Amino acid sequence: MVVAIDGPAGAGKSTIARRLADRLGFTYIDTGAMYRAVALWALRQGVDFADHHRMEQLALASEIELSPGRIRLNGEDVTEAIRTPEVSNGASRVAVIPGVRRAMVAQQRAIGEKASVVMEGRDIGTVVFPNAQVKIFLDAKPGERVRRRLAEVRAKGDSVAEEQLAAQMSERDQRDSTRADAPLAQAPDAIYLDSTPLSIEGVEEAILKIVRSRVTNGKEFH
Ligand code: C5P
Repeated sequence: MVVAIDGPAGAGKSTIARRLADRLGFTYIDTGAMYRAVALWALRQGVDFADHHRMEQLALASEIELSPGRIRLNGEDVTEAIRTPEVSNGASRVAVIPGVRRAMVAQQRAIGEKASVVMEGRDIGTVVFPNAQVKIFLDAKPGERVRRRLAEVRAKGDSVAEEQLAAQMSERDQRDSTRADAPLAQAPDAIYLDSTPLSIEGVEEAILKIVRSRVTNGKEFH
């Protein structure tokens, strides 16, 4: 079973997807972390993002392992290293490259074919698993998305000006939504959920209800 959660930055996808996976006993897959890992490697190697051929080679050669809460790139734990503003921006720039997307999508499909997953990203319900049993488009008002991201950054002890963060997020969302290949978009059969007025528990319960309603083989999730 695939639960696909797509939406813009700061809508709460990671928090919700992780909690849902725990509740359902599914594997949680953060596909954004995969694009981030490729961007990190390219930045370290000094590969020009405009060199699409080299970028594709790099994406194909990257060994990305996702385990609960951690991500490894070519054997190295890069969980913290991929969360910098430079890598966030880089990820959305490498994510426009069709060859990079092909390499990531192939890995994502392979994971989802082996296990039940809650997979979050930008194109999970539209491209990666168009036949996913549950598709959610998780959104929140721009001001709220910035506020949440700001709280996350500050909780880590980092500082950033709110206007700067807002500008970075809006630039990234704009690039993600307007790229030619697999732009951020709501699948026609996805359920739109605005998390702005809801608590984390509220969003989790709303999605769990949808998951349960889609389970037709009599199996129950608690
Ligand atoms: O979700 P996160 O913010 O970590 O994703 C980083 C970037 O990776 C996004 O801004 C987007 O450009 C890209 N991405 C994507 N497709 C996905 C997941 C992430 O293009 N399925």
